[in-house]
Amino acid sequence: MSGKKIGIIQDPCFFEHRLETVTKECPERVRRLYLDIEQEPELSQLVCYPLRAVSDEEICRVHSELYLRQILDHAVNPNPYSYDADTYLTPESPHVARLSAGGCLALADILMTGEIDSGFALVRPPGHHAEIGRGTGFCIFNNIAMTAQHLIDRHGLSRILIIDFDVHHGNGTQDIFYQTDQVLTLSIHQNNLFPFTGKSIEIGQGEGLGYNINIPVPPQFGDAEYSCIFGTIVQNVVENYLPQVILVSAGYDAHEDDLISQTNITTAGYYAITQALSHFAKSIDARLLFLLEGGYNLDSLSKSVRASLRALSNPPIGSPSFRHAPRAIKAIENEWPPELILKWAPATIGT
Ligand SMILES: [Zn+2]
Repeated sequence: MSGKKIGIIQDPCFFEHRLETVTKECPERVRRLYLDIEQEPELSQLVCYPLRAVSDEEICRVHSELYLRQILDHAVNPNPYSYDADTYLTPESPHVARLSAGGCLALADILMTGEIDSGFALVRPPGHHAEIGRGTGFCIFNNIAMTAQHLIDRHGLSRILIIDFDVHHGNGTQDIFYQTDQVLTLSIHQNNLFPFTGKSIEIGQGEGLGYNINIPVPPQFGDAEYSCIFGTIVQNVVENYLPQVILVSAGYDAHEDDLISQTNITTAGYYAITQALSHFAKSIDARLLFLLEGGYNLDSLSKSVRASLRALSNPPIGSPSFRHAPRAIKAIENEWPPELILKWAPATIGT
């Protein structure tokens, strides 16, 4: 058992972004999760922290002012889909989205005090699809990007690693940090799935060249392949980039029971992924913060998030073991541009 507390953000305010007709990105996702956490004695050491709303100024550090204005305008339009076909907006939505991002920033501040080594912001709406000037895919403000920018601006950090294991590409986060090396974005996602971006050749620009890593995986990849990717690529990136903080876009929609994708991670697989990340963070003395993104099967979402929380509470003693999955290595060898292999994985992949 870890000596330190695990911080979480959970709040009924996140139920207030809702539409009667919406079944996918709905309040039940977190309502059910909060109830299940309460009933699990093993999670009793979680400490819930208060949250706040982000300001216009904080939003505009990663989004354009025009985009913020568009969101505020469309939120009062009688048609909730006037802005985007998936991303509904109601009069309450902008404020709930400010609290969702603000919960993540509040937890990041606690993390930086050293009071906790790791935390999980159990917030919604999610954020990783929200680009500089455009929201989509249920995302209004980019929670994880705002958190990374806050750590740079307010806490003076200069190396932040964002690992996005949501089954969809984190296009918004990529867009926001495409030209910087202060934030390294690494997204593992199912190929040819919404938002149809995230090719392995998208590797960043300018100062950011080599600091945007995409690992698109074919359908049917599951625990073995993900374990192999974490034990090779992700470990190499952590050890070579040496981030001060690891932020995780934790979406649970790659679960075998989540019908939004065809990948097959099990609940035990999410436990293993979280243990691996916890081990990586510990090994380089970095702090670790999970932020909830997708996950649309209420049952597998609740089970998998709780598996992650248990894994954070029980960091592995010694190195976790990783599985060898030849088709995972092959997928990367075949797809990755040589400069990315040279930079981040010379010892594991290729020659
Ligand atoms: Zn997703």
